[in-house]
Amino acid sequence: MSEDGIAAGVGRTALLLASARAMETGRSGLVDDRFARLFVLAAGAPSGLPVELPAEETGTRQFWHDFALGAGLRSRFFDDFLLAHDGGQIVLVAAGLDSRSYRLNWSAGTKVFEIDQPAVLAFKGHVLADEWAACTRCVVPVDLREDWAGVLQRSGFQPGEPTAWLLEGLMPYLSPTDVETLLDRITNLSAPGSSIALNHFSGIRSAPPLADALDFDVLALLQVEDQPDPAELLHRRGWSVTRSPSRDIAALYDCEQSWRKKRLDVIGTGVTGTK
Ligand code: SAM
Repeated sequence: MSEDGIAAGVGRTALLLASARAMETGRSGLVDDRFARLFVLAAGAPSGLPVELPAEETGTRQFWHDFALGAGLRSRFFDDFLLAHDGGQIVLVAAGLDSRSYRLNWSAGTKVFEIDQPAVLAFKGHVLADEWAACTRCVVPVDLREDWAGVLQRSGFQPGEPTAWLLEGLMPYLSPTDVETLLDRITNLSAPGSSIALNHFSGIRSAPPLADALDFDVLALLQVEDQPDPAELLHRRGWSVTRSPSRDIAALYDCEQSWRKKRLDVIGTGVTGTK
């Protein structure tokens, strides 16, 4: 595929997160993602994104520092969630350039389904063509606003088995109606013993550092309508839910001090649930 494809539209936000993980790798020990750098470098100039923190006190240094730390913390939080389901069936919903299928130490029998837009998964496949996944990896190229449940099942997903679902960094791109439909589909496909994790933002459209530091208008990609609280939506669908504000996630990994100084929160509230 054209390297420009990933840098266009909402796919570019997957590159943005890869850039943050590349910067955080080797810095704090929160995330060790050697693939993140490969994605950003493969996308080349159209992405305009860094793979290392700006060394000097430039205007955007604080932004990238906050972004990288937040990406590291949220990666670690969700890594730990998924590793608790090692050996089972996992679905990365809007996987983007998440390299967990490759970088985590999975036991035999772990099956990971990665759902995202066809252009994003094609770019990922192209960059990782010479790499071996550490689990059984199945790509499911679909638009999540369509009826993707059948495509997932035709890819080998077993609805009778407990599943761990991860929706990392997805909510801001879906309308309230799309979120409701998505959670209905996930709930219908979730056998007893399943679990879910996601992060949720309120007021992200008014986060000024986001608009100032990037050379593309990420705010234009976000949904304008107020998002419903996904914890509440999951509760209504029978899930037992826990909320973890970003400061609690930072405290969990001994990063309270650095997190308190941040101006930008790319974690939001972590929501985990069991069925
Ligand atoms: N989960 C990854 C992470 O945290 O690094 C990627 C997060 S990125 C901010 C948002 C992802 O959502 C992108 O990969 C984008 O392609 C995907 N996405 C947004 N809307 C989508 C849709 N309607 N169908 C499929 N994927 C979608």
